[in-house]
Amino acid sequence: GEAAISETPLHPRRVSRRIMVGPVPVGGGAPISVQSMTNTKTADVGATLQQIAELTAAGCDIVRVAVPNQEDADALPQIVAKSPIPVIADIHFQSKYVFQAIDAGCAAVRVNPGNIRKFSEVGPSICRAAEDAGISLRIGVNAGSLDKELYEQYGGPTPEALVASALKEARMFEDVGFRDFKISVKHHDPVTMVETYRLLASKGDWPLHLGVTEAGPAWQGTIKSCVAFGALLAEGIGDTIRVSLSAPPVEEVKVGCKILEYLGLRERKFDIISCPSCGRSQVDVIQLANAVTDGLKGITAPIRVAVMGCIVNGPGEAREADLGVASGNGKGQIFIKGKVVETVKEDQIVETLLRYANEIAATMDTS
Ligand code: SF4
Repeated sequence: GEAAISETPLHPRRVSRRIMVGPVPVGGGAPISVQSMTNTKTADVGATLQQIAELTAAGCDIVRVAVPNQEDADALPQIVAKSPIPVIADIHFQSKYVFQAIDAGCAAVRVNPGNIRKFSEVGPSICRAAEDAGISLRIGVNAGSLDKELYEQYGGPTPEALVASALKEARMFEDVGFRDFKISVKHHDPVTMVETYRLLASKGDWPLHLGVTEAGPAWQGTIKSCVAFGALLAEGIGDTIRVSLSAPPVEEVKVGCKILEYLGLRERKFDIISCPSCGRSQVDVIQLANAVTDGLKGITAPIRVAVMGCIVNGPGEAREADLGVASGNGKGQIFIKGKVVETVKEDQIVETLLRYANEIAATMDTS
C-alpha cells in the first residue's frame, strides 16, 4: 500500500519498464507489490470476496483467482466489482476464459502460452483484447509446465530452458506490438530460481514477478522464499512477489510483507527485538517475547519493542527501541526511548509493556 519504499537500501533497483495492474504500478521503480492467490472456489463469490478482504487487511496489493471452469469465469464480474484490490484471472488451457476475464474487468490476466491451446493462433487476439481494455498480462513458465521441446533440448527445466521459454513467449507478444506484460520463471528450488531470474533480468526490461513455486508447507516455504527473494531483491531484481505456501493464503501475504519490510523495501510495522536468552537470563524470555508479540498482533503502528533477558545487552537494546524491557532480579526495567519509566515485578512485565505499546501506537497512528 501507501507505506511502500521504492528504493532498496542494499542495491539500486534493476531498471524495468512499468505496467499497471489496475491502479497498482508494477516495475519502473514502483514500490514492490505483494500478491497472493485465493484458494476458495472462484465460483463461490461470497467466500472468495471474504478471503480477498482478509488478504487485503494483511497487506496484499494484488490478488489472483483461478479460473478453471465456466462458473468461475462467470463469477469474475461480481468479484471484480467488489474486490478492494485489483484482481488477476489465472487461466490455463482455455483461451475463451481469457476474453471473458478481460470483459469482466479483471486488472490483468495470467496466461501460460505454453499450455493455451493453439496459442500461436489466439495469442495476437489476446494481446489486442488486452490492449483495447488497457489491461496487462503475465506470462512465463513454471518448471513443471515447460514445453516438451525445450525440456528435451536443455535436458530439463534448467535456468537456460526456462528463460528460453519466457523469451519465446515475450517475443510472441512483442511481435504483435504488445508490451504491457510481466514475466515469471518459477522453480521450486531457490538456487535454480535465483539463477533463472538473474539470467532473465539480464535479457530485457520486463517487470518481473518473483515466485518460488510449490515451496512447501509454511515453515519450509517461508524459508525458501526468504532465501530466494532475499537474494534477488537485495540485487535489485523483482517488481512484484508472491510467496506460495501450502498454507492459508493470508500467511503468504504476511510472509511477503515481512520480507519487504526486513529488506527495507516497505515501511516496517510492529517489530519485536528479543534476545535468544542464555544462562544469564533472569526471566523466561521466550515466553515473554511470545506473549508480547501475541498481545500486539493487531498493532499497525511501526513500533519497535525490545524484550531482553538480562542487564548485559538489555538496557542497550532497550534504548534503541521505542519501548523495551530489560530484566533482572525478578523485575523488569521498562524503557521508553532509552529512559527507564518504571520498574515492575516479573509477572507484570507483559501487561505493562502492552499498555505502553498501545499508548505509543495511538500517538503514532496516522491512518
Ligand atoms: Fe543472555 Fe542477557 Fe544476552 Fe539475553 S540479553 S542473550 S539473557 S546475555
